[in-house]
Amino acid sequence: MRLVDNLYCYIWTGRGNNCNSYLFTNVLRGHRPHVLVDPGHVVNELKERCLDHLLSSMAKDGIEAEDIGLIINTHSHPDHCEANQALVERSRAKRGKGGAKRALITLHQDEAEYQRAAGEWLARILGTEAKFEPDFYLREGILNLGKERKINLETLHTPGHSPGSISLYRADNGVLITGDVVFYGAVGRTDIPGGDGRLLKESIERLSQLDIEYLLPGHSTEFGAIIKGKEKVRQNFAFIKMNYFPLL
Ligand SMILES: [Zn+2]
Repeated sequence: MRLVDNLYCYIWTGRGNNCNSYLFTNVLRGHRPHVLVDPGHVVNELKERCLDHLLSSMAKDGIEAEDIGLIINTHSHPDHCEANQALVERSRAKRGKGGAKRALITLHQDEAEYQRAAGEWLARILGTEAKFEPDFYLREGILNLGKERKINLETLHTPGHSPGSISLYRADNGVLITGDVVFYGAVGRTDIPGGDGRLLKESIERLSQLDIEYLLPGHSTEFGAIIKGKEKVRQNFAFIKMNYFPLL
């Protein structure tokens, strides 16, 4: 579903666990122009075929997996990046001039180090593991995508749910993708290895200072998925500061 400009949202509606995915169309040079944020699970704990579901939803919007040139992971938990490698393999099928030979994968360096150190242990806790190699690391600051700088995505290092969690902010239309930092009426877990309540609080405090029109979380809650409108976003941060900050 297209939300605003060239941003498409794929909100997970299955019964088991999986993340929401977000996609920016036609921003990269070369023949694979799309950027996907958090592809999610291939198959989840209830054996729901999450990746197939994402791909068929994208196809309905006229978007093909082969046209994805960059996969950004907000963090390294398997419910956000298990499908990385499958999508990279699919992207190899497409041939054309310019750009890389396949889709590239990126995440924050602290997250890659965390994944290397805690990945196996975490896999045992979470019941699955996502194996992939990042092609480059994201840094705090502006990520210019596209030849004509069609979009400027700002990477914000927002640790707390995991050490290298990032949020992605697009100032020109007030879009903020938060991964598992903050949700509609809830916050990301800090009770799994790599979690840190004090850091999560600082990260949420920082995000709350931004001018946000669309808050796009990594998971839906009983309250909903996407928060639209500055006032609703402001209310959500106020709710979280009041109800969650004392517990973190
Ligand atoms: Zn997570």
